[in-house]
Amino acid sequence: MICSHIPGFPRMGARRELKMALETYWKSSSEPDNTNPDLKNLVAMGKQLRAAHWALQKKAGLDWVTVGDFAFYDHVLNHIQLLGCEPARFGFSEDTPELERYFAMARGSLTTESGQAMSMLKWFDTNYHYMVPEFFPDTAFSVHSERLFDEVKEAKALGHSVKAVLLGPVSFLYLGREKVEGFDRLSLLPKLLPVYRQILSRLHAEGVEWVQIDEPVLGLDIDDKCLSAFEGTYAELSKEAVKLLLTTYFSSLADHIDTISKLPVAGLHIDAVRGAEDLKEIAAKWPADKVLSVGVIDGRNIWKADLDKALAVLRAPELAGRDNLWVASSCSLLHVPFSLEAETKMDPRLKQCLAFAAEKLEEIHAIKDGLQQGDAAIAWALDSSRQTVELRKGDWVHNAQVARRVGDLKEGMDRRGSAFKVRQALQRKRFKLPAFPTTTIGSFPQTPQIRSARASFRRGSLSEAEYKKAMQEEIAFCIAQQEKLRLDVFVHGEPERNDMVEYFGEFLDGMAMTANGWVQSYGSRCVKPPVIYGDVSRQDAMTVEWTKFAQGLTDKPVKAMLTGPITILQWSFVRDDEARPVVADQIALAIRDEVADLEKAGIGIIQIDEPGLREGLPLRRQHWQAYLDWACRAFRIASSGVGDDTQIHTHMCYAEFNDIMPDIASLDADVITLEASRGDMTLLKGFSDFRYPNEIGPGVYDIHSPRVPSVNEMVSLLKQASKVIDADRLWVNPDCGLKTRQWKETFEALDNMVKSAKLMRETV
Ligand code: GLN
Ligand code: ZN
Repeated sequence: MICSHIPGFPRMGARRELKMALETYWKSSSEPDNTNPDLKNLVAMGKQLRAAHWALQKKAGLDWVTVGDFAFYDHVLNHIQLLGCEPARFGFSEDTPELERYFAMARGSLTTESGQAMSMLKWFDTNYHYMVPEFFPDTAFSVHSERLFDEVKEAKALGHSVKAVLLGPVSFLYLGREKVEGFDRLSLLPKLLPVYRQILSRLHAEGVEWVQIDEPVLGLDIDDKCLSAFEGTYAELSKEAVKLLLTTYFSSLADHIDTISKLPVAGLHIDAVRGAEDLKEIAAKWPADKVLSVGVIDGRNIWKADLDKALAVLRAPELAGRDNLWVASSCSLLHVPFSLEAETKMDPRLKQCLAFAAEKLEEIHAIKDGLQQGDAAIAWALDSSRQTVELRKGDWVHNAQVARRVGDLKEGMDRRGSAFKVRQALQRKRFKLPAFPTTTIGSFPQTPQIRSARASFRRGSLSEAEYKKAMQEEIAFCIAQQEKLRLDVFVHGEPERNDMVEYFGEFLDGMAMTANGWVQSYGSRCVKPPVIYGDVSRQDAMTVEWTKFAQGLTDKPVKAMLTGPITILQWSFVRDDEARPVVADQIALAIRDEVADLEKAGIGIIQIDEPGLREGLPLRRQHWQAYLDWACRAFRIASSGVGDDTQIHTHMCYAEFNDIMPDIASLDADVITLEASRGDMTLLKGFSDFRYPNEIGPGVYDIHSPRVPSVNEMVSLLKQASKVIDADRLWVNPDCGLKTRQWKETFEALDNMVKSAKLMRETV
């Protein structure tokens, strides 16, 4: 029998209704919850969205709707409540309502001193962030929330057949963190498993036949101890009558296949997009009488499926004979936007090539029908898919000139003309900066006036000339502030940029923006990644005019701001018909041209931001080096076309680079600025151990908070930094850009920062 399902669906709604309801509630939540109408609306909105999303799954002919994927903030946080392990530090009392506790953990609670929000981590290699469970040796578990069971009832009442989804116990523990030393969170399994059993048993009692149990850590480099924990865990859980679909995604299962195929579960889901190479082996090893769910529809990208290809995978001899084959998306559709329907202004050619979550449901359905009834039954869908494959071969996607340029990349084009020491001497002569030079990371506060000017320009109610004038006034204001502060290297402040990737996405050929392609990043926060659909090239300069204007207002050097090729790649939906390294090279060449134009315009210092470089690391270490090689090379292609006395900066958020130091050094940026203040500069140790040779600006204050740090604090951080890095290679700057801050605290903090640099100059 062939069935179809999805591992999960986006939560926000077609028009981000959940975001709106959440933010309205948060704004009003000073009222007690029992009388707060906004809370009522939020709860009702959750119910409405679940119903709508299940209806879509049913309409698309899936065999089950998925229940348990919805969350008001995050599904891991749902599990923290479901499993009764809310951190004691919040001091919740028995009668604190569930949702109040929920948002206190997510956003912090003022009712207790230890009520800071739980920390977030990136969910594998996605841009989604989960709340990190906190574990102690005495952490206890119990079924502590009715939410999941209520949602199952809700779906049943609507007449749906239900597949429930749970995050599996090993992944739940693995993704959390120990809060005391000397204990291993996996040792909590014996306490946790009875609770999972109770949940499974209750789901069974509710009439649920299948539970999808997600164990995505099976795609990571887990050690043998963790891997063998799966055996005991699933031996235990399989004692329950409900059928378990062990679900993996995001990665190849590689060497874990043997363990997985012996687990006593009723079914297995695999990601056949990222783990395509495993399929043969899995098919051979996974018992023929058990369910195999094959995720052929890409849940991480937005391209319409090539149905012929997907069908060929499922019809391959190793799968064709299977009785219990399920068709699915590779992973939850959480990571793609809701529906193409809202894209009314998109180039129709591009639109024809895309499938968002709602459209992917249709594709899964078509594949199932095709398998069961033959191609003729899905002639229309196949036709459309084939047309799309042809369409993507067209010259609106492929640009021979760009391909030639990438093909012609010469050896050495990713190297600066001279070694760092030589460049450093020339740059020192040119810029004559004092010791401990001060600068900022690029953006200054994005005021309501700036946002409204940008919005009016977009709507057309502000003319181009008026918009330009408004932005120039902002830039002039930023320059004036920096003069007052006596910073050494200025920036223009980035008022014209809504987002550091989107800004460039709008200029570059081969990239497009969507109107409504929102994807959840964390809580109510969503991002709208650009789409890289074709060969990328640059027509005209993108930043030169603004930077030149700023430079015209001051004698201090103005540092230009660009986003690097890997960050642009990492934060976009990338075409799947070209190799990622090639796309990276194309973007790198476009940025290289921009760098050349800036240099020609007399700009002597150019920063190329790469906060996306580290997060692009593949999930499995065996693939790291190959990635780092092409990614770092792309950065160097972008940055190396300049003369020796042009100073290249790069910026990365976080400074935890210990494990990739040689690669960070290989970027050969003259100056690297990092986020370091919250780690008390300890993060610099990696740079010092490695004897990192170039100049470094470790952030001396946290820009995530409005707090103004004192001169003393920053001096003490700088002293710590100068213990591990030669003082004459240190820069003084904040952790990151200042766009989310207000001017008042920004000015005060930078004023203290400049004073701390002065003090350092006098003492060292
Ligand atoms: N130049 C950018 C800014 O200042 C850098 C942002 C980032 O590192 N995420 O806003
Ligand atoms: Zn940053």
